[in-house]
Amino acid sequence: MNPDVIVVGLGAMGSAALYQLAKRGAAVHGIDRFSPPHEHGSSHGETRITRQAVGEGDAYVPLVLRSHEIWREIEAETGLALFDACGGLVFAGAGSQHPRKRRFLEDTMALARQHAIPHEVLGASELAYRFAQFILKGGERAYYEPGAGMLFPERCIFAQLDLARRNGAAMLLDEPVLAIEPEGGGVRVRTARAGYAAPSVIVTAGAWNAGLLGRGDLTIRRQVLTWFEAESPDEYAPGRFPVFIALHGADDHCYGFPIPPGTAGFKIATETYDEAPAVPEETRREVEEAESDAFYDRHVAGRLRGIARRRVKAKTCLYTISPDLGFVIERLPRDPRIVLVSACSGHGFKHSAAIGEGLAELVLDGRPRVPLDAFGSGRFARPG
Ligand SMILES: Cc1cc2nc3c(=O)[nH]c(=O)nc-3n(C[C@H](O)[C@H](O)[C@H](O)COP(=O)(O)OP(=O)(O)OC[C@H]3O[C@@H](n4cnc5c(N)ncnc54)[C@H](O)[C@@H]3O)c2cc1C
Repeated sequence: MNPDVIVVGLGAMGSAALYQLAKRGAAVHGIDRFSPPHEHGSSHGETRITRQAVGEGDAYVPLVLRSHEIWREIEAETGLALFDACGGLVFAGAGSQHPRKRRFLEDTMALARQHAIPHEVLGASELAYRFAQFILKGGERAYYEPGAGMLFPERCIFAQLDLARRNGAAMLLDEPVLAIEPEGGGVRVRTARAGYAAPSVIVTAGAWNAGLLGRGDLTIRRQVLTWFEAESPDEYAPGRFPVFIALHGADDHCYGFPIPPGTAGFKIATETYDEAPAVPEETRREVEEAESDAFYDRHVAGRLRGIARRRVKAKTCLYTISPDLGFVIERLPRDPRIVLVSACSGHGFKHSAAIGEGLAELVLDGRPRVPLDAFGSGRFARPG
């Protein structure tokens, strides 16, 4: 029997959509080229930052607020720990700005006020007193949000796929989708093994979306996550240390995490837009020691106490970006029965639970409770 909906790609967005569809009683197939959670796409690496006052824009705030509720619902249902609200800090050195989001700190503060999100504004001396792990220069301005924290992405995906399966979803794993084509009254999904048809298809293939749907407006960027040795890991335990985004130097920035219990190394990263592979398979996956050394000199040395140069591990991960770095969530103009979710990299994970719920509502009754209209690609000129 044909399903009501097929979800192509079961990472952050797809696992959430599959779970929410199955929970609502829809007959649903989820297809993935690998067996998620895995390390080939955009959703691995142990932790993701989540913040409620998301400086990326007003339209994202309802998504993250609803996601926080859903993460807690899933935790209650599964007994798994998905979200540690260990607090989050955004701070800027005197004269430092985010390289691409110029008013990121100011916008974060304004959104917190607008949405009544509990927060504190800290000056340099209070920041130094509260979080002595940072070596400050003086003149820093900080935003602290106690309800921010870290998500555990592999566990979030596992939990949602598990719940989807328990609610009757069929899962077709290690089965790459080759084409998605209109067929009669529905849509046909052709894989390396078989063909499936459904009235609606949700495409959440992450970094593979561009190739699968021929979207020239989506590009991929290699990113690196590095874990360095902490001399006293307890100093960086959740509860003593928050997730953070630091704007420093001349328009430079990095972000990092407390060390979750049972893991090794202090994880820190930045965003880079230098390497632009056309397809995920062309991405350079290895991380040279020299690359980690250069990262350490730029973002860790003289900025964080007790974090040694010794690398514990490093991983690559893929960003998919749109021309304005915003999300793309839309029914395809060429066929509205196909819904695309893409270009969420850099800041998508925190919103994924509510996006999955919104996709289920959009496809089943046309009315997502959190509006998704702001994310159509019509806002920028789309080639092709
Ligand atoms: C380094 C890094 C750091 C980040 N940090 C944060 C953060 O701190 N906070 C935050 O909120 N967000 C963060 N993000 C962004 C967030 O992780 C991503 O937006 C999100 O994980 C993307 O999920 P996705 O479902 O679109 O892609 P993925 O999770 O990669 O899922 C895509 C899935 O589609 C499957 N697939 C692909 N092609 C096919 C095909 N042809 N057939 C079948 N299946 C297919 C893949 O196997 C994969 O499982 C970060 C991203 C990166 C890379």
